[in-house]
Amino acid sequence: MLLCKTKSETRLALSGARSAVENSLARPSSVGLVPTMGALHDGHLSLIRRAVAENDVTVVSIFVNPTQFSPSEDLGDYPQPLENDLDLCRTEGVDVVFAPSPPEMYDPDFSTWVDETSLSKGLCGASRPSHFRGVTTIVAKLFNVTSPDRAYFGQKDAQQAAVIKRFVRDLDVPVDVVVCPIVRRTDGLAMSSRNASLTPPLREEALVLSDALDEAVRLFNSGQIDTSAVKTAMTSAVSAAPHARIDYIEIVDAETLAPLETIDRPALVALAVFFADTRLIDNRILTPPKG
Ligand code: AMP
Repeated sequence: MLLCKTKSETRLALSGARSAVENSLARPSSVGLVPTMGALHDGHLSLIRRAVAENDVTVVSIFVNPTQFSPSEDLGDYPQPLENDLDLCRTEGVDVVFAPSPPEMYDPDFSTWVDETSLSKGLCGASRPSHFRGVTTIVAKLFNVTSPDRAYFGQKDAQQAAVIKRFVRDLDVPVDVVVCPIVRRTDGLAMSSRNASLTPPLREEALVLSDALDEAVRLFNSGQIDTSAVKTAMTSAVSAAPHARIDYIEIVDAETLAPLETIDRPALVALAVFFADTRLIDNRILTPPKG
């Protein structure tokens, strides 16, 4: 496995890896990209395993992207256990890790952005107004550095996946976006690098996110399609945690992310909840039966 800190090293490493495959197999090679901010856990590893299984060459980027954090957010506290991340990537059969520094990715007079202007406005975008602009811009840059055939994202960040898919469609980006299922701990908590910053009691309280989603599924399965009723039940499930501070609980069209009054089409049930300074997100898809 090669660790590359610069864009030019990465391009060189990937073209070498591609040529090696093409010379030995006498066919075009495929590259899979897994963009991450590091502090890798089983959620990330599920994306990496899928990329390794589906491509000749896998590149994982590890970059805590400053432009997707607002000044008041946890950029400075974001965990960066690079050596452990590299060990995990090596074990999974990753070919190249691209771990640049912020100045490698952003010139001091950087001034060009990729800005999705519809799907990125609600849900997380309402309380993090410049977040998705930072995400789409860094993903565009990572695509330009690694020229992947496929890029792997998690359903855990459902809005991010929708925004990236729209960006790829709108700008004719020749990359297949693959969205992988949410990986959870056995108790239901969705894996997240931010879980590590919760104290054990708060981690216990954080189970209300998956409890609230389970409650939404239960109500929907028993015939409740009124989104206000489902959201009210979810709010009371979250409120069982004394330290929970709800950012949002929303039910939206799973594709357009437009708010729904009734669940009459595939719906994304999504929530974001603070525990102290840690903001956790989770979601489920509800699909009405056809006909
Ligand atoms: P991050 O390092 O948080 O930016 O996440 C990198 C990628 O891993 C994103 O596409 C996330 O959606 C995905 N991811 C994070 N947590 C999970 C999880 N629990 N299950 C599946 N994918 C995840």
